[in-house]
Amino acid sequence: MSAPQYVSTRGGGDPVPFREALLDGLAPDGGLYVPTHVPDLPSSWRGAGSLADLGARVLAEWLPDVDGLGALVADALAFPVPLVPLEGSGWEGVHVLELFHGPTLSFKDVGARTMARLMGAALGGEPVTILAATSGDTGSAVASGFEGVAGVRVVLLYPKGQVSAVQERQLIVERENVQALAVEGTFDDCQRLVKRAFSEARPEEGRLSSANSINIGRLLPQMLYYLWADRQLGGEPPLVIVPSGNLGNLTAGTLAMRGGLGVAGFLAAHNANDGFPRFLAGGSPPAGDSVRTLSNAMDVGVPSNLERLRSLYSDDELRRLVRGEAVTDDETTASMRRVHDETGYLCDPHTAVGLEAARRARQRGAAAPIVVLSTAHPAKFPESVEAATGVGPEAPERLAALWDAPVAVETIPPMLDALRVHL
Ligand SMILES: *Cc1c(COP(=O)(O)O)cnc(C)c1O
Repeated sequence: MSAPQYVSTRGGGDPVPFREALLDGLAPDGGLYVPTHVPDLPSSWRGAGSLADLGARVLAEWLPDVDGLGALVADALAFPVPLVPLEGSGWEGVHVLELFHGPTLSFKDVGARTMARLMGAALGGEPVTILAATSGDTGSAVASGFEGVAGVRVVLLYPKGQVSAVQERQLIVERENVQALAVEGTFDDCQRLVKRAFSEARPEEGRLSSANSINIGRLLPQMLYYLWADRQLGGEPPLVIVPSGNLGNLTAGTLAMRGGLGVAGFLAAHNANDGFPRFLAGGSPPAGDSVRTLSNAMDVGVPSNLERLRSLYSDDELRRLVRGEAVTDDETTASMRRVHDETGYLCDPHTAVGLEAARRARQRGAAAPIVVLSTAHPAKFPESVEAATGVGPEAPERLAALWDAPVAVETIPPMLDALRVHL
């Protein structure tokens, strides 16, 4: 079968090649791009010796036209993704897939680094400015991901004073082709500015592109670690638990399954932003505003990738395949403490939401092996980890080094003219 093309979830327009879906981000009718079909996994994937090796083999079925795909993936995914078994009574057969060993300590490095290199290859040196509004882990992963990609300049907007100290540091550390802008306003102001910059773009600003979380170029590489977990686990298909917000991670997992990966089921673990679990339990699709929680990267009221999931599956199919679980902040803190007490494993609040869902699944009698995706390093959230466990997580060297590195950031009012100076 030939490689897939991409169509809008809203049905408008003809299928487009990957390059167009990648560079445009959003379909012209406002929908999200989904593949016309899911290629079968090549039989060689089980022989892969590393995540990057696996990535090169699997993505070749999706992206046969990308020159140097193997080297590109190897460069993007040059960090370990270990599957760590928990040891302690009651936790038998529970494994944590640590996705946070990349440069910015969250799983977003996997998607952002690969997407950045795919965009660099698609542009072939044509200059482009990537504009991104960010509130959390995405901005730093995107900035870091594009670092050194030829022809690409990145302009990042974040709400001044409204991101954590570690997150801000990761955004403003000086990078050759990245301009960080602290906007005197909210995250919504940042997003509004980005939208206006696109709709009112001027020819002299050159090509503008976005790197938001719904880009298909971020989704495809996220399939790979589901396969990599299976390679390390071997044996019975696992129940996979995904700490979820915008549902990109979960959507990627279902694509891996469609390609042929065996899974016992998915469990979407949410914080108090529980619209998706309610929907899965028979309610209407999520609509409300988000509330702030300890696991702030999952504070999403209306998950944008639900539109993708519902175009890939009927609601009945989705409800059979995925179960939802909602975990409060108190339960998240208790989970960090319990897991640490019972197994010695220190986890961040997002992973703790997943591990609480794992505990509940076992209580309900789930017998399959369990893989919990760990989406962030505990040192990214030192305050809540220490408050819960009494233990301060040790910062990896690349995080500690940030505090000595030069920074470059400008503060702007939330006005288009102030942004334009930087385009
Ligand atoms: C973004 C993020 C999530 C949520 O992932 P989605 O793909 O949006 O569902 C979970 N945990 C962390 C640490 C994140 O940064």
